[in-house]
Amino acid sequence: MNEVPEPVDAPFRFDVLTLFPPLFEGFLTESIIGRAVRNGLVEVKLWDLRQWAVNRFGQVDDRPFGGGPGMLLMAPPVVEGVNAIRDDFADPGHLVMLTPSGRRFDQSKAREFLTRKRLILLCGRYEGFDHRVNEILGPETVSIGDYVLSGGEVPAMVIIDSVTRLVPGALGDETSPLDESFHDDRRLVEYPQYTRPREYLGHSVPEILLSGDHAKIARWRESLRRPSEPPQTQ
Ligand code: SAM
Repeated sequence: MNEVPEPVDAPFRFDVLTLFPPLFEGFLTESIIGRAVRNGLVEVKLWDLRQWAVNRFGQVDDRPFGGGPGMLLMAPPVVEGVNAIRDDFADPGHLVMLTPSGRRFDQSKAREFLTRKRLILLCGRYEGFDHRVNEILGPETVSIGDYVLSGGEVPAMVIIDSVTRLVPGALGDETSPLDESFHDDRRLVEYPQYTRPREYLGHSVPEILLSGDHAKIARWRESLRRPSEPPQTQ
Protein backbone atom coordinates (compact mmCIF):
# COMPACT_ATOMS: atom_id res chain seq x y z
CA MET A 1 0.00 0.00 0.00
CA ASN A 2 1.25 3.50 -0.76
CA GLU A 3 0.75 6.09 1.93
CA VAL A 4 1.21 9.87 1.84
CA PRO A 5 3.80 10.72 -0.84
CA GLU A 6 7.28 11.42 0.53
CA PRO A 7 7.96 15.17 0.63
CA VAL A 8 10.05 16.27 -2.35
CA ASP A 9 12.62 19.05 -2.43
CA ALA A 10 10.45 21.76 -3.96
CA PRO A 11 10.22 22.72 -6.69
CA PHE A 12 9.82 19.54 -8.70
CA ARG A 13 11.35 20.34 -12.05
CA PHE A 14 9.94 19.42 -15.48
CA ASP A 15 11.79 20.22 -18.70
CA VAL A 16 9.84 19.75 -21.92
CA LEU A 17 11.49 19.52 -25.34
CA THR A 18 8.84 20.35 -27.93
CA LEU A 19 8.30 21.93 -31.34
CA PHE A 20 5.23 23.73 -29.95
CA PRO A 21 5.87 25.46 -26.59
CA PRO A 22 2.73 27.68 -26.94
CA LEU A 23 0.52 24.59 -26.60
CA PHE A 24 1.35 24.60 -22.85
CA GLU A 25 0.24 28.18 -22.17
CA GLY A 26 -3.18 27.77 -20.56
CA PHE A 27 -2.26 24.43 -19.06
CA LEU A 28 0.59 25.93 -17.03
CA THR A 29 -1.22 29.02 -15.80
CA GLU A 30 -4.68 27.79 -14.79
CA SER A 31 -6.16 25.76 -11.93
CA ILE A 32 -4.11 23.29 -9.86
CA ILE A 33 -1.04 23.28 -12.10
CA GLY A 34 -1.03 27.08 -12.37
CA ARG A 35 -1.23 27.39 -8.59
CA ALA A 36 1.52 24.81 -8.04
CA VAL A 37 3.76 26.78 -10.41
CA ARG A 38 2.94 30.12 -8.77
CA ASN A 39 3.52 28.64 -5.30
CA GLY A 40 6.93 27.35 -6.36
CA LEU A 41 6.03 23.68 -5.85
CA VAL A 42 6.81 22.80 -9.44
CA GLU A 43 8.84 24.49 -12.14
CA VAL A 44 8.22 23.80 -15.83
CA LYS A 45 10.74 24.90 -18.43
CA LEU A 46 9.79 24.68 -22.10
CA TRP A 47 12.50 24.20 -24.68
CA ASP A 48 11.90 24.79 -28.40
CA LEU A 49 13.51 21.97 -30.37
CA ARG A 50 14.15 24.35 -33.27
CA GLN A 51 16.91 25.95 -31.20
CA TRP A 52 18.98 22.91 -32.23
CA ALA A 53 17.88 22.84 -35.89
CA VAL A 54 20.46 21.43 -38.30
CA ASN A 55 20.41 24.48 -40.60
CA ARG A 56 19.31 28.10 -40.81
CA PHE A 57 15.94 27.04 -42.21
CA GLY A 58 15.04 25.52 -38.85
CA GLN A 59 15.08 21.95 -40.09
CA VAL A 60 14.61 19.28 -37.39
CA ASP A 61 12.99 16.49 -39.43
CA ASP A 62 13.71 14.43 -42.53
CA ARG A 63 12.37 11.52 -44.60
CA PRO A 64 12.86 7.98 -43.23
CA PHE A 65 15.59 5.84 -44.78
CA GLY A 66 14.04 2.84 -46.56
CA GLY A 67 10.97 4.82 -47.55
CA GLY A 68 7.59 5.13 -45.92
CA PRO A 69 5.20 7.95 -45.20
CA GLY A 70 5.90 11.09 -43.23
CA MET A 71 8.92 12.60 -41.59
CA LEU A 72 11.03 11.72 -38.57
CA LEU A 73 12.61 13.98 -35.98
CA MET A 74 16.35 13.87 -36.65
CA ALA A 75 18.72 12.60 -33.98
CA PRO A 76 21.18 15.57 -33.81
CA PRO A 77 18.69 18.28 -32.70
CA VAL A 78 17.18 16.00 -30.06
CA VAL A 79 20.52 14.74 -28.68
CA GLU A 80 22.04 18.24 -28.63
CA GLY A 81 18.88 19.65 -27.07
CA VAL A 82 18.85 17.04 -24.29
CA ASN A 83 22.54 17.62 -23.55
CA ALA A 84 21.92 21.38 -23.22
CA ILE A 85 18.85 20.81 -21.04
CA ARG A 86 20.80 18.48 -18.75
CA ASP A 87 23.58 21.05 -18.42
CA ASP A 88 21.06 23.74 -17.44
CA PHE A 89 20.48 22.27 -13.98
CA ALA A 90 22.56 20.43 -11.35
CA ASP A 91 20.35 17.31 -11.29
CA PRO A 92 20.69 15.56 -14.70
CA GLY A 93 17.08 14.37 -14.37
CA HIS A 94 15.23 11.35 -15.68
CA LEU A 95 14.73 11.28 -19.43
CA VAL A 96 11.30 10.22 -20.74
CA MET A 97 10.35 9.85 -24.39
CA LEU A 98 6.62 10.01 -25.16
CA THR A 99 5.76 7.34 -27.71
CA PRO A 100 2.83 4.98 -28.40
CA SER A 101 5.33 2.09 -28.27
CA GLY A 102 6.39 2.84 -24.69
CA ARG A 103 5.29 1.32 -21.41
CA ARG A 104 1.75 2.30 -20.47
CA PHE A 105 1.62 5.22 -18.05
CA ASP A 106 -0.43 4.73 -14.88
CA GLN A 107 -0.77 6.04 -11.35
CA SER A 108 2.04 3.85 -9.99
CA LYS A 109 4.37 5.26 -12.65
CA ALA A 110 3.25 8.77 -11.62
CA ARG A 111 4.22 7.93 -8.02
CA GLU A 112 7.58 6.60 -9.19
CA PHE A 113 8.20 9.73 -11.28
CA LEU A 114 7.52 11.85 -8.20
CA THR A 115 10.65 10.40 -6.59
CA ARG A 116 12.80 11.52 -9.57
CA LYS A 117 12.73 15.24 -8.66
CA ARG A 118 13.43 16.22 -12.28
CA LEU A 119 11.84 14.83 -15.46
CA ILE A 120 12.92 15.72 -18.99
CA LEU A 121 10.03 15.00 -21.36
CA LEU A 122 10.67 14.49 -25.09
CA CYS A 123 7.64 15.30 -27.25
CA GLY A 124 7.63 13.67 -30.66
CA ARG A 125 5.85 14.95 -33.78
CA TYR A 126 5.35 13.61 -37.31
CA GLU A 127 6.20 9.87 -37.36
CA GLY A 128 8.28 10.11 -34.19
CA PHE A 129 12.03 9.98 -33.54
CA ASP A 130 15.05 8.58 -35.39
CA HIS A 131 15.72 5.41 -33.35
CA ARG A 132 19.29 6.54 -32.63
CA VAL A 133 17.83 8.98 -30.10
CA ASN A 134 16.89 5.87 -28.10
CA GLU A 135 20.26 4.21 -28.70
CA ILE A 136 22.29 7.27 -27.73
CA LEU A 137 20.26 8.74 -24.88
CA GLY A 138 18.49 5.62 -23.54
CA PRO A 139 15.28 7.37 -22.44
CA GLU A 140 12.50 5.56 -20.64
CA THR A 141 9.74 5.23 -23.24
CA VAL A 142 6.21 5.98 -22.03
CA SER A 143 2.82 5.72 -23.73
CA ILE A 144 -0.38 7.21 -22.33
CA GLY A 145 -2.55 4.62 -24.07
CA ASP A 146 -3.12 2.50 -27.14
CA TYR A 147 -4.06 5.24 -29.57
CA VAL A 148 -2.06 7.66 -31.70
CA LEU A 149 -1.99 11.39 -31.05
CA SER A 150 -0.43 14.05 -33.27
CA GLY A 151 2.33 14.88 -30.81
CA GLY A 152 3.83 14.23 -27.41
CA GLU A 153 2.62 17.52 -25.90
CA VAL A 154 -0.70 16.21 -24.58
CA PRO A 155 1.02 13.08 -23.14
CA ALA A 156 3.61 15.39 -21.51
CA MET A 157 0.76 17.41 -19.97
CA VAL A 158 -0.78 14.17 -18.70
CA ILE A 159 2.45 13.31 -16.91
CA ILE A 160 3.00 16.84 -15.55
CA ASP A 161 -0.57 16.97 -14.28
CA SER A 162 -0.62 13.55 -12.62
CA VAL A 163 2.80 13.98 -10.99
CA THR A 164 2.06 17.53 -9.84
CA ARG A 165 -1.11 16.35 -8.08
CA LEU A 166 1.13 14.12 -5.96
CA VAL A 167 3.54 16.90 -4.95
CA PRO A 168 2.77 17.61 -1.29
CA GLY A 169 0.75 20.81 -1.03
CA ALA A 170 -0.28 20.95 -4.69
CA LEU A 171 -3.90 20.01 -3.97
CA GLY A 172 -4.21 22.24 -0.95
CA ASP A 173 -5.44 19.25 1.08
CA GLU A 174 -2.58 16.85 1.84
CA THR A 175 -4.82 13.82 2.09
CA SER A 176 -6.66 14.26 -1.19
CA PRO A 177 -4.44 12.00 -3.34
CA LEU A 178 -5.04 9.17 -0.85
CA ASP A 179 -8.76 9.30 -1.48
CA GLU A 180 -8.59 9.16 -5.24
CA SER A 181 -8.83 6.37 -7.78
CA PHE A 182 -5.72 4.13 -8.12
CA HIS A 183 -4.15 5.59 -4.97
CA ASP A 184 -2.77 2.24 -3.82
CA ASP A 185 -1.63 -1.05 -5.29
CA ARG A 186 -5.19 -2.42 -5.43
CA ARG A 187 -5.76 0.04 -8.30
CA LEU A 188 -9.41 0.54 -7.42
CA VAL A 189 -11.51 3.46 -8.67
CA GLU A 190 -13.31 5.90 -6.43
CA TYR A 191 -16.79 5.39 -4.94
CA PRO A 192 -19.72 7.51 -6.28
CA GLN A 193 -19.98 11.00 -4.76
CA TYR A 194 -22.91 13.39 -4.38
CA THR A 195 -23.44 17.07 -3.59
CA ARG A 196 -26.49 19.36 -3.31
CA PRO A 197 -29.37 19.30 -4.11
CA ARG A 198 -30.46 16.23 -2.11
CA GLU A 199 -33.13 15.45 -4.72
CA TYR A 200 -32.74 15.98 -8.45
CA LEU A 201 -35.10 14.74 -11.18
CA GLY A 202 -36.37 12.00 -8.85
CA HIS A 203 -32.87 10.84 -7.90
CA SER A 204 -31.97 11.17 -4.22
CA VAL A 205 -28.66 11.06 -2.43
CA PRO A 206 -28.11 7.67 -0.66
CA GLU A 207 -29.48 7.96 2.90
CA ILE A 208 -26.26 6.71 4.49
CA LEU A 209 -24.40 9.86 3.34
CA LEU A 210 -26.86 11.99 5.30
CA SER A 211 -26.59 9.85 8.46
CA GLY A 212 -23.62 11.68 10.01
CA ASP A 213 -22.09 8.28 10.93
CA HIS A 214 -18.60 8.74 9.47
CA ALA A 215 -17.35 5.23 10.23
CA LYS A 216 -20.38 3.73 8.48
CA ILE A 217 -19.97 6.13 5.55
CA ALA A 218 -16.29 5.16 5.22
CA ARG A 219 -17.20 1.44 5.19
CA TRP A 220 -19.95 2.04 2.62
CA ARG A 221 -17.60 3.99 0.39
CA GLU A 222 -14.86 1.37 0.69
CA SER A 223 -17.35 -1.33 -0.31
CA LEU A 224 -18.06 0.57 -3.54
CA ARG A 225 -14.45 0.83 -4.70
CA ARG A 226 -14.00 -1.48 -7.69
CA PRO A 227 -11.45 -2.26 -10.42
CA SER A 228 -11.52 0.11 -13.39
CA GLU A 229 -13.34 -0.96 -16.57
CA PRO A 230 -11.14 -3.07 -18.87
CA PRO A 231 -10.62 -1.76 -22.43
CA GLN A 232 -13.57 -2.59 -24.67
CA THR A 233 -12.92 -5.53 -27.00
CA GLN A 234 -14.72 -6.21 -30.30
N1 SAM B 1 4.58 6.73 -36.04
C1 SAM B 1 4.28 6.58 -34.65
C2 SAM B 1 3.69 5.21 -34.38
O1 SAM B 1 3.07 4.64 -35.27
O2 SAM B 1 3.84 4.73 -33.25
C3 SAM B 1 3.28 7.64 -34.20
C4 SAM B 1 3.85 9.00 -34.12
S1 SAM B 1 2.74 10.18 -33.46
C5 SAM B 1 1.82 10.68 -34.86
C6 SAM B 1 3.75 11.58 -33.13
C7 SAM B 1 4.20 11.69 -31.71
O3 SAM B 1 3.08 11.83 -30.85
C8 SAM B 1 5.00 10.55 -31.14
O4 SAM B 1 6.36 10.62 -31.48
C9 SAM B 1 4.78 10.72 -29.65
O5 SAM B 1 5.69 11.65 -29.09
C10 SAM B 1 3.39 11.31 -29.58
N2 SAM B 1 2.36 10.32 -29.24
C11 SAM B 1 1.32 9.94 -30.02
N3 SAM B 1 0.54 9.05 -29.40
C12 SAM B 1 1.08 8.85 -28.19
C13 SAM B 1 0.72 8.03 -27.09
N4 SAM B 1 -0.32 7.23 -27.12
N5 SAM B 1 1.50 8.08 -25.98
C14 SAM B 1 2.60 8.88 -25.93
N6 SAM B 1 2.98 9.67 -26.97
C15 SAM B 1 2.23 9.66 -28.08
